[in-house]
Amino acid sequence: MKTLLPTSTAGSLPKPSWLAEPEKLWSPWKLENDELIEGKKDALSLSLFDQLRAGIDIVSDGEQTRQHFVTTFIEHLSGVDFEKREVVKIRNRYDASVPTVVGAVERQKPVFVEDAKFLRQLTRQPIKWALPGPMTMIDTLYDAHYKSREKLAWEFAKILNQEARELEAAGVDIIQFDEPAFNVFFDEVNDWGIAALERAVEGLKCETAVHICYGYGIKANTDWKKTLGTEWRQYEEAFPKLQQSAIDIVSLECHNSRVPMDLLELIRGKKVMVGAIDVATNTVETAEEVADTLRKALQFVDADKLYPSTNCGMAPLSRRVANGKLNALRAGAEIIRNELSAK
Ligand SMILES: [Zn+2]
Repeated sequence: MKTLLPTSTAGSLPKPSWLAEPEKLWSPWKLENDELIEGKKDALSLSLFDQLRAGIDIVSDGEQTRQHFVTTFIEHLSGVDFEKREVVKIRNRYDASVPTVVGAVERQKPVFVEDAKFLRQLTRQPIKWALPGPMTMIDTLYDAHYKSREKLAWEFAKILNQEARELEAAGVDIIQFDEPAFNVFFDEVNDWGIAALERAVEGLKCETAVHICYGYGIKANTDWKKTLGTEWRQYEEAFPKLQQSAIDIVSLECHNSRVPMDLLELIRGKKVMVGAIDVATNTVETAEEVADTLRKALQFVDADKLYPSTNCGMAPLSRRVANGKLNALRAGAEIIRNELSAK
């Protein structure tokens, strides 16, 4: 990227109200069959338009074709029975009824590749595509087949690698793996989590990113955050190994969070997508607030490696708020670009 401080989002953006009920996670589709296929494409185009209008540099599909960032991917795989459900604790935080792994997991056909080709046709801007990470995937399932979190994660990593290679061939510039589970299962992250992620990016020539956050602004997550104390040091566990890993970019949550900025020193050398937009509030940040977060991050991230971004996905927000936040992100990045070029 030639642009200094290229802006991007963590991934998801709100869907239009004619496609799915707004301001809701897991919102059911309002259309069916061919109308749904066409509606998703229209929504993807609109989402791209919103990003371009706001001046976002690295654009995405806004995750318009998926209902959920993990489940939609798993729905396309064989070996998982969505009728057979068990209650498990997700990220040690909240109970959810989840599908069961009943046999070998396999990707029968591409999941997002057609969507990526469609987005590629619409823009010349660099595009980033998000996939769930292996550890976060296993954490949303009951495993009655492999009976080993590590084994199942490894199988998912191989599947993700197949998908990622095809996304790369479709013209995706950055493939991002969402691993919020990295902030919870520290021993597993270090034992096999990062190795599984590296298996998922094996052989890729495009850039790769991992997004680690404290979750969407839903109640289970905001309640959990209240228990974390005044300093959130979770990143400290995974960062040293990530710094040594094959992953190019680390995407993380900074704005309004209690993450001590100096933890970024642990991934010095990597590109960092710095979350400068809080997705857990409807209050739209001012450009100056965004700039302030970026300025703090610049103490620990070299300017040519700093990518201003959002803390997490904005799917649960209203389109008005999300668009306001996209504008604030671009305007905040501009302030810092000007400061850097004046030096
Ligand atoms: Zn996130």
